Amino acid sequence: MTTILHGNILHAPRFGEVSAIPKGYLAAEDGALTYVGETLPEQYQGLPVEDWGDRLILPSFADLHLHAPQYVMLGMGMDLPLLDWLNTYTFRTEARFADGDFARKVYRKLARELIAWGTTRVVMFSSIHTEATWILMEELEAAGVTGYVGKVNMDRNSSPDYQETCEESLRETERWLDGCHFAHVRPILTPRFTPSCSDGLMAGLGKLARERNLPVQSHLSENRGEVAWVKELHPDCGRYWETYAKFGLWKKGTLMAHCVHSDQAEQAAMAEAGVVAVHCAASNVNICSGTAPVRQLVDRGVWVALGSDIAGGDQLSMAANVVLTIRASKVKAMETGAPFLTVPEAWYLGTTAGHRYFGGGEGFALGGRLHAMVVDDSALPPPARELSLQERLERSLYLMEKDCIAAVYSDGRRVK
Ligand SMILES: [Zn+2]
Repeated sequence: MTTILHGNILHAPRFGEVSAIPKGYLAAEDGALTYVGETLPEQYQGLPVEDWGDRLILPSFADLHLHAPQYVMLGMGMDLPLLDWLNTYTFRTEARFADGDFARKVYRKLARELIAWGTTRVVMFSSIHTEATWILMEELEAAGVTGYVGKVNMDRNSSPDYQETCEESLRETERWLDGCHFAHVRPILTPRFTPSCSDGLMAGLGKLARERNLPVQSHLSENRGEVAWVKELHPDCGRYWETYAKFGLWKKGTLMAHCVHSDQAEQAAMAEAGVVAVHCAASNVNICSGTAPVRQLVDRGVWVALGSDIAGGDQLSMAANVVLTIRASKVKAMETGAPFLTVPEAWYLGTTAGHRYFGGGEGFALGGRLHAMVVDDSALPPPARELSLQERLERSLYLMEKDCIAAVYSDGRRVK
């Protein structure tokens, strides 16, 4: 099947660079991009074209860190620091997902909202529940969201109604893995974070990662209290990252959310291993964790992508999270004098840097899967003069409403 889109195409082939093709064409065959350019090539003449007129055709967003069960507690407990927030709100909320009907209702809404906001690729935490995690994967698949989902592992330091034993956690993880058979939503191992997992559990997950060649996601150096706690739990480890490395969970493609307080040595370990830092600006500010040194991470060769981190973050919209990334970096710039992240840089992190995790190329690269959205900015305040496409992109990111997103394509398929 051939899809041909016509409109103003913008994408981010490199960090800090926006490429614009006014009134251009984009073609995909069976979901794979085959052409991006100014004129429609000979072989596509006469085929149906989806003409988006003066609208913007942009890459969809990739959200590489969010907690699906926390969707129901968006905007709650925002005055608490991380560890109190977990104990007061989060664990109790996640425990509710033992109820499959409740999970179905919440996850159906979440999956549809992700698409409505133009997010087509995700890496997500579920809860500890096997059934609810399958339900989440099913609902994402049905809505057109692609990516990875992890059943959470935690066998210590939670609440009594929301904890597994080490043996249960490993057994359920294997049962969950054996039941994963979704075309576009795949499993990722998910030790919640070091304080939640005993050494035995971490070792078991490291073994599974190796034996089944599975990716891993977790949290790293988010908050000072947490970093000090990890040091107490693992006095043999000089730094937080070593608590993952010693169990085989620190490897190429491991996703680590936050990395706010990673020092130079920890940053170097990330760059060397090919670990991806997932920056969650909204969450970092909301629960007063700090402001991650994104510019420094990028300069030191660390692969950085963005996450909404709901519900530490309060915005499911990745356009909003791109803006929050810029804003947080400006606060850091005002304090330290380091240059802030520009619109093209932050947009790259929210699109291309994330899509690359799933095998995407640099922007709308040929051979990559079609993950795109069409933005109609005509309802935004009327501009005083004609705007460049780059200006229209900036304005759309800052002012994005769900209604501005006229169409969404995920893995070549139109899903909105
Ligand atoms: Zn998180």
